Amino acid sequence: MTQTSTSYETVIDGGKHWSLTVRAGTLLRLTDREGGANVGMLFYNPLNPLERYNAPDTLKCQHTFKLTKGHCLYSDMGRIFCSIVEDSGGWHDTVCGNSTRRLVAERWGEKSYQLYRNEWTQNGHDAFLVEAGKYGLGRRDLVANVNWFSKVWAADDGALHFDPTHAAPGTYVDLRFEMDTLVLLHTCPHPLNGAAAYPRKPLGIRIGAAPPVADDDFCKNSRPENMRGFANNALYHLCGGGGVGDGRSAGAGVGDSGGHGAGGGSSGGGSSAVGVGAGDGGDGRDAGGVPGGAAIVRRRSALLPGEAVFSTVIRAGDYWIDTLRRGQRLRIVDVEGNQAADTLFFNAADVADRYSAVDTIREQANVYLSHGSKLRSTSGQVLAEIVADTVGRHDTLGGACASESNTVRYDLEKRTMHACRDSYLLALAEHDTLGLTKRDLSHNINFFMNVPVTPEGGLTFADGLSGPGEYVEMRAGMDVIVLISNCPQLNNPCNAYNPTPLEVLIWDADVS
Ligand SMILES: [Zn+2]
Repeated sequence: MTQTSTSYETVIDGGKHWSLTVRAGTLLRLTDREGGANVGMLFYNPLNPLERYNAPDTLKCQHTFKLTKGHCLYSDMGRIFCSIVEDSGGWHDTVCGNSTRRLVAERWGEKSYQLYRNEWTQNGHDAFLVEAGKYGLGRRDLVANVNWFSKVWAADDGALHFDPTHAAPGTYVDLRFEMDTLVLLHTCPHPLNGAAAYPRKPLGIRIGAAPPVADDDFCKNSRPENMRGFANNALYHLCGGGGVGDGRSAGAGVGDSGGHGAGGGSSGGGSSAVGVGAGDGGDGRDAGGVPGGAAIVRRRSALLPGEAVFSTVIRAGDYWIDTLRRGQRLRIVDVEGNQAADTLFFNAADVADRYSAVDTIREQANVYLSHGSKLRSTSGQVLAEIVADTVGRHDTLGGACASESNTVRYDLEKRTMHACRDSYLLALAEHDTLGLTKRDLSHNINFFMNVPVTPEGGLTFADGLSGPGEYVEMRAGMDVIVLISNCPQLNNPCNAYNPTPLEVLIWDADVS
């Protein structure tokens, strides 16, 4: 895929940030001019920013841990913001999150604006907050981002490794936007970059019009999930969403004549495209063993169920929400075995400071959760720590199931099947005094789920390691709101195709 025209080029210096609204049918080329760049990026629907980039759906819909050519970047609504139509680098990260002010200060020393002017040391988190604020968005709207040009791979035991030599000078990636999208970006260092000096690498940006999406388009045909994702976009455009019928001029108001008609007409247009994807390919059933196995550590708890101050059973397809006090222990029991517990934590004193999968796995430098894992918030605080675990491995990459992602993963006609996100939304609606809404639903933990990652960047959903009566136990590091969906998913092995009950027990802080 090459650009048919170029209407705007610019360079963003290292350690800076920008944002722009990009129309469907636009091609955005990002170039790592000097090598070693990192470009943090987030995506939102400008008509409704509650629809935003969803890293877990993007990974699990395409069975991948890395991003490269052929992949599509999904929203939480089962739609595609953009497709990676060219990529000379071959690997981009979306699981490590951002550098923060603290991280930059500890690693490279803070250079204040007062002393250093344009050479100050900006961080990715603050950069996103500033750009998000321009659109009325804030902390609650920040989610796991893409880190273009950065390669982080996971060994068999889940250990994360940053490749400092990955991107050569001139490496580029081409993004074709499939719907109108608000793009936030920064050029701050990757949080795992261990360079001796603050890496300040410039980004080349070229904006132009993309050729129309052909029926044999590589991204659309790369896997059946993407065919269905394109069908979801076509339905959205058919119903008037995201810039249909306005000529889809390219670029962020830079005056290109555009009119390429990509986006809504991408699949041959209209209702015929909506019917695409009734097939059953790519359903996530790849069985996979436990690679390596070196990281599996099991540890039992000394606490007795008879001494718990609270216990309840969560039926399959139901939710449970409650507040856990600092020091209390929470045990989740997989009563009949092989049942996923989709779990979120919120700092009870500041719900925007919620569980962050990317901060958790980056800080422990491992993709799997097990005994000793500290479950961190977006500000890096420890919400809870896993203090006992008879299973030894839990997932926090795959996110929760949703009706919309089910249409991509399995079949468009699965859209009305029950899903974890529906349980989450009902929980928040029925407990609206907590002030939580869809904005606060992000990348969760899947206790008892086994999602092996390979060093080559693959990701599969495998049979769980859990069995009847197995459990995981956490000690709250602060007062936290806990929200659990007992997963109703019937389409993959995360619940052994047979969702069963979970039990939760709570012990007070003064127990041994
Ligand atoms: Zn689920």
